[in-house]
Amino acid sequence: MSADAASTDSPPAGPDKPVSAVEVVGVSKVFNRGKASHVDALVDIDLTIVPGEFVSLIGPSGCGKSTLLRLIANLTEPTGGTITVAGKPARTARLEQDYGMAFQQAGLFEWRTVAKNIELPLELKGWDRAKRRARAREMLELVKLPDFADHLPWQLSGGMQQRIAIARALAAHPPLLLMDEPFGALDEMTREHMQAELLRICAETGTTVIFVTHSIPEAVYLSNRVVVMSPRPGRITQIVDVPLGADRTDDTREDGAFYGKITEVREALRGAEFDLTAKGIEDR
Ligand code: ADP
Ligand code: MG
Repeated sequence: MSADAASTDSPPAGPDKPVSAVEVVGVSKVFNRGKASHVDALVDIDLTIVPGEFVSLIGPSGCGKSTLLRLIANLTEPTGGTITVAGKPARTARLEQDYGMAFQQAGLFEWRTVAKNIELPLELKGWDRAKRRARAREMLELVKLPDFADHLPWQLSGGMQQRIAIARALAAHPPLLLMDEPFGALDEMTREHMQAELLRICAETGTTVIFVTHSIPEAVYLSNRVVVMSPRPGRITQIVDVPLGADRTDDTREDGAFYGKITEVREALRGAEFDLTAKGIEDR
């Protein structure tokens, strides 16, 4: 690049261009195309996420949150559009294990110890035993359960199991973490504690997160941006910025600005519902 080009305001091009963590462009997803059971799960989805960002997806059941997450993970293919993860096609990113995933159920293998559960993705990558053990220990420190390596999953509480699931998802140090309602089965106090822990872990590791939730306060507390979606067909109706700063604590939950953002997301969700009702009337 010439010195002149570098001094202009235009974004850098070529190798200097910062790589998005995730880039979703014009994506649609139709299930059961051409059949009576046809579902337009997602239409016209555009979303760019920068490295280190925490983005939540929120919207009523059936609006396509899980489908969007599964598309980014390349567990299903889009009907139209393109998805790039860490600058690569989503399929390449999946094959190279550039992301970790966590779900509502921790999904630990009951016959494997906690350490062996965390080591699983590393076994799949062909790491040797000593290196796997060392990384499992490091991850147990990260999630603050260093004394539980040799326990079996049933010996842990729900919140502890969910920490192990996060440790496993992050064991290979993927740049991206995809989470589908991971705290949905936890009681409110444990849930708030896990939210704070997740923010700490992400700050320590620099991980980018896409987080699906039904909870407005959870989305606002965790996120840099909240993506509001509406169903039939699933689309993004609004993206709410949450500039509450990087250091979020229990005090954040009592902050007027926090409540302001909750109201803004709630109204965006109502707006999406209203659009839907108006459309229903038109369709009649
Ligand atoms: P959400 O996670 O927001 O509740 P989903 O992404 O699970 O929504 O689903 C979006 C829509 O796509 C729903 O109408 C759902 O029934 C439909 N859907 C999801 N997965 C499939 C599938 N494998 N086959 C057919 N329809 C599906
Ligand atoms: Mg879902």
